[in-house]
Amino acid sequence: MSEETEQVDIMYGLKTVLSRIDVAVSKRSKDLPQIMPTMVAVSKIKPASLIIQAYEAGQRHFGENYVNELSEKAQDPQILEMCKDIKWHFIGHLQTNKINKLLQSPNLYMVETVDSAKLADNLNKQWEKFRQGDVKLKVMVQVNTSAEDAKNGIEPSEASTLVKHVLENCPNLDCKGLMTIGQYDYDVSLGPNPDFLLLAKCRQEVCQNLNLDIDHVELSMGMSADFEHAIELGATTVRVGSTIFGARPIKHQ
Ligand SMILES: *Cc1c(COP(=O)(O)O)cnc(C)c1O
Repeated sequence: MSEETEQVDIMYGLKTVLSRIDVAVSKRSKDLPQIMPTMVAVSKIKPASLIIQAYEAGQRHFGENYVNELSEKAQDPQILEMCKDIKWHFIGHLQTNKINKLLQSPNLYMVETVDSAKLADNLNKQWEKFRQGDVKLKVMVQVNTSAEDAKNGIEPSEASTLVKHVLENCPNLDCKGLMTIGQYDYDVSLGPNPDFLLLAKCRQEVCQNLNLDIDHVELSMGMSADFEHAIELGATTVRVGSTIFGARPIKHQ
């Protein structure tokens, strides 16, 4: 762990992000569902000690994009002891051979990255084994709004079909909404981010096609660089990492 990481003031980071969220909510178009966004603190690469600090400052939702890392942190004895109400969101690409490992993680709250009927079917089947009590597994359908090959997610035109599949064929899953990652480094001076607009449009189509109440279909979009912009365009879940926990080392592709 670098010295900078240790010096990050988690409490300050959380407070700042939450107040920026409040301001963004007040600027959101009144045509959009006025849902107070859930802020998922993305703790990838960051140690358990920082997660515990954030938890103690009041944060409950945490996101990880690798199954092994989520699984390890979720089973960390200190986290289990001190963060009893923690809610883990899986936000990475989920391979079939990692499903069981993910579903065995204590306090798994939501899988945001369901991008095929096959993955939904697998999760539905395996959740029967791993769930505690009668709780359904919350999921979101991931949409590839930026049409980049490197990004996962289904085509926007397929969103309704996949949501319908989950609603009709996956009784152990609770489909909460749509999620996108979108292109990085979009320049907002060019206008509203087309990825966010497209995800909002997908939600409209899904709600129309399947006769769903738009107030109950969430949109997970927006990260450190653009979460306020995403909220103004309708995000109900934002995933914020570096603004809270400090910068991550640059990944070499
Ligand atoms: C890392 C990550 C984030 C958070 O990114 P920051 O820019 O650090 O806020 C959000 N969503 C996903 C899917 C991620 O992998």
